[in-house]
Amino acid sequence: MAYSRRPYRREYSGRKRQCRFCVSRDEIIDYKDMKLLQAFTDERGRIRKARRTGACRRHQSRVAQAIKRAREIALIPYTTD
Ligand SMILES: [Zn+2]
Repeated sequence: MAYSRRPYRREYSGRKRQCRFCVSRDEIIDYKDMKLLQAFTDERGRIRKARRTGACRRHQSRVAQAIKRAREIALIPYTTD
């Protein structure tokens, strides 16, 4: 063979990845919950894309809203460059 094939990459691991907020209903999106917000922002303080976070559209927008609120009251930075 002239060129080697790349190793097979799994597209799906059996079942679809679900939004963590949909899975655990008691997990609330709180703008004061910095640990949660940090999980949804990158190291520069920017909001991660839904593709990265795995959150559904509804919850992703709620998290984004919470992050913006937290930024306003200076809990988390807007961006750190
Ligand atoms: Zn969800």
